[in-house]
Amino acid sequence: MLDIIQIPVLIDNYIYLLHDSDSGETAVIDPAVAEPVLAVLTQKGWQLSYILNTHHHSDHIGGNVELKRQTGCQIIASEFDKHRIPSVDRGVKEHDVINLGTHSAQVIATAGHTSGHIVYYFAEDNALFCGDTLFVMGCGRLFEGSAAELWQSLQKLKALPSKTRVYCAHEYTQANGRFALTVEPDNIALQEKMIQIDELRANGLPTVPSTIGEELATNPFLREDSPSLRKNLNGTTNPAVEVFAKLRRLKDNL
Ligand code: ZN
Ligand code: FE
Repeated sequence: MLDIIQIPVLIDNYIYLLHDSDSGETAVIDPAVAEPVLAVLTQKGWQLSYILNTHHHSDHIGGNVELKRQTGCQIIASEFDKHRIPSVDRGVKEHDVINLGTHSAQVIATAGHTSGHIVYYFAEDNALFCGDTLFVMGCGRLFEGSAAELWQSLQKLKALPSKTRVYCAHEYTQANGRFALTVEPDNIALQEKMIQIDELRANGLPTVPSTIGEELATNPFLREDSPSLRKNLNGTTNPAVEVFAKLRRLKDNL
């Protein structure tokens, strides 16, 4: 079993701590800050082995240097971001494999939000750590890549098994869901999901993780071919990538 601990930090970031009890190895995904991670490590009696970064934004790497200083862990990040993430020990790219005890993650390149963005897919554990590429009912903003690039990246995530748990880096779900309802108001799965989401948030609970299956049913950025969504975009017959670009623009201009 891979233990996964979700640590909410800053306003809406999630840090994930992963632990393999057989080997004792521990990894942290996107430590925005160091202190809350150190606190959980102490409480659990775990030693940090690795930091895994999805991209270079400060709300994903802010705790890197302090954690490395205090624990001696190794920092793993996209090889394309080595010049802009301090103290990286190992640069990785698409198809590289990272081991955590007997568990392993495949690196998938997902340019779009940033040009070096990568995600970590633990196939046997049904867990995807996708940073700011895919959110619950949403996707990342285009800071460095084109809509076509992010769309291409999302096609890779769409193809993962539907039971894959989606551990994204932000709690943006409610706002994403409100936008989703404007473009696909008659999607029943979406309507039902929003009722659950509002209830979770009213109780201060996280809405993350979801699953790839839930995202395929509710996330407009994975649903460019949905007839009900296309009907709401004036019955467009444009290719999916153009519908995606349009959705991204609509969301940006809210
Ligand atoms: Zn980001
Ligand atoms: Fe972020």
